[in-house]
Amino acid sequence: CGIVGYTGNNNAAEILVNGLKNLEYRGYDSAGIAVLNEHKLDLYKSKGSLNKLEEKLDNNGKILAGTGIGHTRWATHGVPSDYNSHPHSDCNGKITIVHNGIIENYQDLKEDLFAKGHKFDSRTDSEVVAHLLEDFYDGDMVQALIEVDKLLEGSYAIVAISDDEPETIYGLKKDSPLVAGIGNQENYLASDIPALLSKTKDFYIFEDDEIAKVNRDRIEFYNLQGELLEKDLFEADWDA
Ligand code: GLU
Repeated sequence: CGIVGYTGNNNAAEILVNGLKNLEYRGYDSAGIAVLNEHKLDLYKSKGSLNKLEEKLDNNGKILAGTGIGHTRWATHGVPSDYNSHPHSDCNGKITIVHNGIIENYQDLKEDLFAKGHKFDSRTDSEVVAHLLEDFYDGDMVQALIEVDKLLEGSYAIVAISDDEPETIYGLKKDSPLVAGIGNQENYLASDIPALLSKTKDFYIFEDDEIAKVNRDRIEFYNLQGELLEKDLFEADWDA
């Protein structure tokens, strides 16, 4: 339902939760974040409100990570629960994703992945995306996202991280909105502009089948041929 991604020098967990709070008006049944500390992934998920998620964060002390992804879920496949909450990781916890929308052909994809030995933690349609990315990832996430985009049917805004690349977040979308927010030595991804208006007014808007590679000092957009794209800046002229 709601997505926020961040990479920069500030506390990612705090920025993700605050961004998701700006999207609370859209409704949700559960929430979660994944943050990368160096190469170590920390995952926090909770059925219920963002306040419940924050209690879990407090229990773990102050999380100082510069990169992370967050999600508020409106369940379509799999009941609202801690384990069905996003983010979802592949079997090795290497690649982690959040997803808005519906993967229509997830059953077929899941059967193929089962046959290859993948094991699933959740009942969501979304989890197949993490496993597919793991299958294709050989150090080049843009290429892996291109391959996965070819297989997916349905609607999706996906934000992904790899513990190989603790200072990068990636986005891909089709028929579900996704934007990149431009900061100063920090950058963002989000499903909706209001998530980030307190942080920036400068955005790039994803078109369908576009992929973004986001570092703190650079945002690159690619098409499905892997070609670098020139994007127009969008300036939001309304206030948070
Ligand atoms: N279809 C996914 C799920 O049920 C994502 C739902 C959403 O957009 O929040 O987990």
